[in-house]
Amino acid sequence: KASPVEQNKKPILQIKGLTKNFSNFTAVNNVDLTIYEGEIFALLGSSGCGKSTLLRMLAGFEQPSDGHIILDGEDIVNLPPYKRTLNMMFQSYALFPYMTVRQNIAFGLKQEKLPRDVINARVEKMLKLVHMEEYVDRRPYQLSGGQRQRVALARSLAKEPRLLLLDEPMGALDKKLREQMRLELVDIINSVGVTCLMVTHDQEEAMTMADRIAIMDRGEFVQIGGPREIYENPNCRFSAEFIGQVNMFDCTLTKSDNKHSVIQCNDFPRPIELLHDIDIADGMPVSIAMRPEKVYISHEEPKEPTNWCEGTVENIAYLGDISIYYVRLPSGRIITSTLPNVDRFNVGLPTWDDKVYLSWDPESCIALTF
Ligand code: ATP
Repeated sequence: KASPVEQNKKPILQIKGLTKNFSNFTAVNNVDLTIYEGEIFALLGSSGCGKSTLLRMLAGFEQPSDGHIILDGEDIVNLPPYKRTLNMMFQSYALFPYMTVRQNIAFGLKQEKLPRDVINARVEKMLKLVHMEEYVDRRPYQLSGGQRQRVALARSLAKEPRLLLLDEPMGALDKKLREQMRLELVDIINSVGVTCLMVTHDQEEAMTMADRIAIMDRGEFVQIGGPREIYENPNCRFSAEFIGQVNMFDCTLTKSDNKHSVIQCNDFPRPIELLHDIDIADGMPVSIAMRPEKVYISHEEPKEPTNWCEGTVENIAYLGDISIYYVRLPSGRIITSTLPNVDRFNVGLPTWDDKVYLSWDPESCIALTF
């Protein structure tokens, strides 16, 4: 189903068959993508998957080996960077150290030779937008990390680009500040309404900030979707394991028909039942993914013939808001189950070495065939 952005807005950026080869190594392989006006879109992937190469091709710092980049209906592949109506904010911010905040923000506007009063008005607007009015005359070394980031953002927004590219926007900040800046950045981006494509390897950052995410692996998109869609309906093992925590089991399909599938897994004495068809032949391998918060843990033996297993609590990690229970199955495998720590007196919660029963709803098991 199309997201509200896809339904209501027009495409601003279309990438078609975009490829980048470095001698005989393919860093970006035949990628297609449409980004809609006003959207915040995240490219998420581990180090070396080709995210930065893709972003650099969009910015014009890297010439594609093949493919098209269409911005506002115009193929920009052969335009030099300065002629593209987009702007990039680098991880290091690339602020000029000897220039003040005001001069940094005004830099691109001066290069465009805009009239002085236009530049001044634009700089004032940007300073206000990022709440840096009081710091106009400071130089970057006199600012905190978060303030430097705001100046870099103001500078990349000053030219009012159609598309803003952010390369690891929080990369230079420590964890606490990263978390704090995420929503602030989203607020600023949304308040000017600019479309934004960001690169990150931090799944929490992508999920908090982006309307849609593309998961990238070895130069290709593995899955594109909203944060909830990817978390709840990953289309392959890579996506399931990349976003959030997951218990993954190698299984075999016993049978599947009429919206009912039965799966056999060596780790579970009883079958796993799902309430949908799985489109592979009986007897073929299938992986089952279970999110830890969807694995229920109890001292009571379930009555159902399927979808449960006994185990022993081997470890408990207390994380404040939740605890992770590490439960050893009779097969020897460990399965994790998370419970929120909301129970005031924690009455009845399992403890170390308890014999427990793990169960899951048929809807919450994700069957993956590749
Ligand atoms: P990171 O998160 O570490 O920045 P990334 O996903 O952005 O990783 P890229 O920088 O796009 O990855 O690199 C993708 C692959 O292309 C890597 O294997 C890298 O070694 C290779 N690569 C990048 N630039 C070049 C180059 N100029 N010459 C040869 N190989 C390159």
